[in-house]
Amino acid sequence: SIMPAVLSAISNGARKGILFKSGYQLEMLSDARVVAFDKTGTLTQGKPKVTDFLVFQEMARDELLAAVGSIESLSEHPIAQAIVRFAQKTKEKWSRPSELQAITGWGVKAKYQGEIWRIGKPKMFGNMDGEISQVVEKMEQEGKTVVLVEKTGKVVGLIALQDTVRPEAKAIVQQLKQMGLKVAMLTGDQQVTAEAIAKEVGIDLVYSDCLPEDKVSIVKDLRERFGKVVMVGDGVNDAPALATASIGVAMGGAGSDVALETADLVLMNDDLDRIPQVLRLGKRVQRIVK
Ligand code: ADP
Ligand code: MG
Repeated sequence: SIMPAVLSAISNGARKGILFKSGYQLEMLSDARVVAFDKTGTLTQGKPKVTDFLVFQEMARDELLAAVGSIESLSEHPIAQAIVRFAQKTKEKWSRPSELQAITGWGVKAKYQGEIWRIGKPKMFGNMDGEISQVVEKMEQEGKTVVLVEKTGKVVGLIALQDTVRPEAKAIVQQLKQMGLKVAMLTGDQQVTAEAIAKEVGIDLVYSDCLPEDKVSIVKDLRERFGKVVMVGDGVNDAPALATASIGVAMGGAGSDVALETADLVLMNDDLDRIPQVLRLGKRVQRIVK
């Protein structure tokens, strides 16, 4: 049976927008050692905006933009949605790709007007022209996510996007550290971008270029090294890691259905402030129960 203290903590949590799926998690929370955050949509707002669009080959800007818009309009990734918004002005020129393939964690591949197109993270294209990789590096150092556009084997363009760090993120990381917890960040983004954002919020344990299964093995590793791990995420790609963590926490507002279903605990208003609160709640309950 559920102890009165646990019950009261659950209802107390609900009033603050924290949804517990069972009382069992509360006790787990009391001896958490690590809080691992996903980056996109969790530490950041998850609504990237295009900041730069560069064309490398002799090709009309609008023509390239129309191709990119046509292809990305079939992808659901937040990056794709931002690119589609940016390319909107060329919409009369869009046509449907004849084939489209999502490459999880990397980008998309499509057949469009007889050419093979790939749009995705720079690493997908192997070693590149020195000048292009310098531009990429510079933008990534500013915390931007860069995607390249390739047309039948040639990189023809670059799109940079910036996502806003949640205003409360930095203070929350600091509070968690003061509570003696280790704080980590896990992301599918490239290393330079990941480190720039991590620095902005004060996280020094950073894992970049993570596929969903990498997030799982990192959570397992953190559990072995430090103890109980709280994982906070929003995306479909976070769900397996949320399931692996001692406690999975999903962002309730922006979160995908899969993340909500998998998590043990849901932050109803995407309010990161609730994380340190929840951990304190766990400790209080443990003191009362013991
Ligand atoms: P995360 O949400 O943590 O960044 P993802 O696995 O969703 O992780 O994506 C990893 C990277 O793959 C993105 O940062 C982006 O560079 C690239 N990517 C994924 N989907 C697309 C897409 N539709 N268009 C362009 N790039 C993409
Ligand atoms: Mg995310």
